[in-house]
Amino acid sequence: MMARRTHIVGAGLAGLSAALAVTAEGGEAFLYEAAPQAGGRCRTIQPGAGFCHDNGTHVLFAANRRALAFLDAVKARHRWIEPEPGGLPIHSARSGRTRRIGLSPWSWLNPARRPEGLGLFDLGCLLRLAFSSADRPVADLIGERPILENLIEPLTVAVLNTPAADASSQRLGCAIRRLLRPGSGRLLVARHGLNEDLVEPALRTLTKRGVPLLTGQRLRAVLTNNNRAIGLALSDRTVALGPEDQVILALPPWEIARLMPELPVPDRFEPILNIHYRLCGLDRPRFIGFTGTLAQWVLVRDDHVSVTVSAAASVIDRDGQEVAALIWREIAPTLRVFGLEADADRQPEARVVKEKRATIRQAASPLPQPPLLPLSNVALAGDWIGSLPATIESAVTAGEQAVAALGHARRTRLPASLPHSLKVEDAA
Ligand SMILES: Cc1cc2nc3c(=O)[nH]c(=O)nc-3n(C[C@H](O)[C@H](O)[C@H](O)COP(=O)(O)OP(=O)(O)OC[C@H]3O[C@@H](n4cnc5c(N)ncnc54)[C@H](O)[C@@H]3O)c2cc1C
Repeated sequence: MMARRTHIVGAGLAGLSAALAVTAEGGEAFLYEAAPQAGGRCRTIQPGAGFCHDNGTHVLFAANRRALAFLDAVKARHRWIEPEPGGLPIHSARSGRTRRIGLSPWSWLNPARRPEGLGLFDLGCLLRLAFSSADRPVADLIGERPILENLIEPLTVAVLNTPAADASSQRLGCAIRRLLRPGSGRLLVARHGLNEDLVEPALRTLTKRGVPLLTGQRLRAVLTNNNRAIGLALSDRTVALGPEDQVILALPPWEIARLMPELPVPDRFEPILNIHYRLCGLDRPRFIGFTGTLAQWVLVRDDHVSVTVSAAASVIDRDGQEVAALIWREIAPTLRVFGLEADADRQPEARVVKEKRATIRQAASPLPQPPLLPLSNVALAGDWIGSLPATIESAVTAGEQAVAALGHARRTRLPASLPHSLKVEDAA
């Protein structure tokens, strides 16, 4: 029998997850990546001089069970820590106060951990949001209530990277249902950074399993014959595929649109603006939310502070240093309360990372979804596949599902156009 090899294109989280899943079953995998490094949208930037920082802050919730299983598989679970075990400090520009709130609805049994303005009626709205069958914009479902500003908008933008006025209630509902499980609202961040605590451990595990990573290899075209992929045209080589070989395209939707223009894929995206200020921070990471300001989330590390502005369409094209100056004035007084030497009039060096297509736009209308197996030996993966919020969790889940779908098709000899019908939420 011919050996079966799985060629995985794209070494972001979906591709890394697919490679782990293939090799966990004893299979042989090859990873091809266009960039000089793995990690994709989830990476650490290491300039020649100065400080290193992630492209943007990434958080996980204890509810992200596939992402945590990924960390377990690469022995990196202990590297992700809970910066705010006593509840998330949220600074409101409107009231000038900082309060800790719980992220799990169970924590709201303690009145001190309840979001400001949360009443019994709001709990009903949240339940409707979590279990509604119709897809509506989140803000329409909640209505003009204080929790829209204090809880729902920040949560929606953080989870879906789409403003609540447009965001899909079903996708957010899916995340809220997961947060209902006791303990699942714990928020985790990488202790040191995404490369050190996520990507490098994954690559080490894959190296031990004999998976080569070929960087600088952009997939230019998929060569096909009779509904099968027979070759991959990469930057400087063409890989011929054997009769048993299979391919996973773990790529963003715009690359799938270029390679396979006939497939329906999402074509609207939302940016995230990230600003990293170099200053003497704190030994242990802290994580602070802001409402009523441009700044939304602030992660304090030992040598820098990172600010996230999600769903950043209104600022992404502005001069980055101007926005950095504005945001520094917003956050400096609160940073001082947390023990940092931050002077609003003396802004430290700032690096601005604009991720213009950080995620797909997750609005309340059905998103185009291609078949999971567009060719008999090709599966798609990526955070944009399926109905989960587009995050590390969905990327990891999609990588695993691509491997499962290829295995299923092989065993049952299904025709090539298996519709995308796996119920992703239940898989997690
Ligand atoms: C600033 C920012 C903050 C975020 N915050 C969070 C968060 O807090 N929590 C969370 O869970 N998620 C967060 N996300 C989302 C998360 O980063 C993504 O969901 C996840 O990284 C997507 O992984 P992926 O493998 O699907 O895609 P990608 O990471 O895009 O991986 C695709 C890979 O394919 C490569 N590639 C592209 N074209 C080709 C080609 N033709 N040939 C070969 N290789 C190619 C790319 O270089 C890339 O490495 C954030 C994203 C951003 C940008």
